[in-house]
Amino acid sequence: VLHCPYCHGYEVRDAALGVVCGDNRPFTLHQASLIRLWSSDVIFFPNRIVLELAERDRLDAWGVRIVDGEVARLVVAGDRLSGVELASGEVVARSAVFVGPRFVPHDELLTKLGCETNDAGCVSTDPTGATSVPGLWAAGNVVSSPAQVITAAAAGATAAVAINHYLLENDIQSALNSR
Ligand SMILES: Cc1cc2nc3c(=O)[nH]c(=O)nc-3n(C[C@H](O)[C@H](O)[C@H](O)COP(=O)(O)OP(=O)(O)OC[C@H]3O[C@@H](n4cnc5c(N)ncnc54)[C@H](O)[C@@H]3O)c2cc1C
Repeated sequence: VLHCPYCHGYEVRDAALGVVCGDNRPFTLHQASLIRLWSSDVIFFPNRIVLELAERDRLDAWGVRIVDGEVARLVVAGDRLSGVELASGEVVARSAVFVGPRFVPHDELLTKLGCETNDAGCVSTDPTGATSVPGLWAAGNVVSSPAQVITAAAAGATAAVAINHYLLENDIQSALNSR
């Protein structure tokens, strides 16, 4: 069971893929279109959500099949995913399934220190990673859930340069004050 086409899509290319809709409706719907880039055999399971006509049309036009009905469980045989079982008992054969998780940042440290958050529920930062609390920077998944290793590391490097400049300026001001 996978969540990111950029991290895991290549390994399951051209396979019989499923996308099971969960709590994160917009993410999962978008994911269904993205997964279609990896395989011509993609089934979207709306599960407990009701698709609007325009959403159905969009998926249909893009070659994503839709199988309605509540998903009861994933069928695993011999330690491998083999299908998606609906509440009706029907099993739809699939060899990998994507889901749209709800992203929750582990940001207690930052929020307890008073960092402001944005509409997405993440701590707000400027392009250097500076938070709303002076002297406090943040980078990576804690402020940007779609970040990947390379973007999280790059944001960390950007924040490190900004922190270095901040500390340098503090030291220069201290030196000036002590003259
Ligand atoms: C299943 C999965 C597969 C993925 N596959 C890929 C992939 O193939 N390629 C890719 O580029 N990205 C992938 N990603 C995304 C990638 O893992 C993240 O983008 C990346 O790890 C973010 O780095 P980070 O340093 O911001 O956060 P993390 O790697 O999560 O590191 C944060 C660290 O801080 C620690 N921490 C948190 N709070 C505190 C605290 N209060 N005190 C001390 N320590 C604390 C945590 O324990 C953790 O070790 C995947 C993610 C998942 C979940």
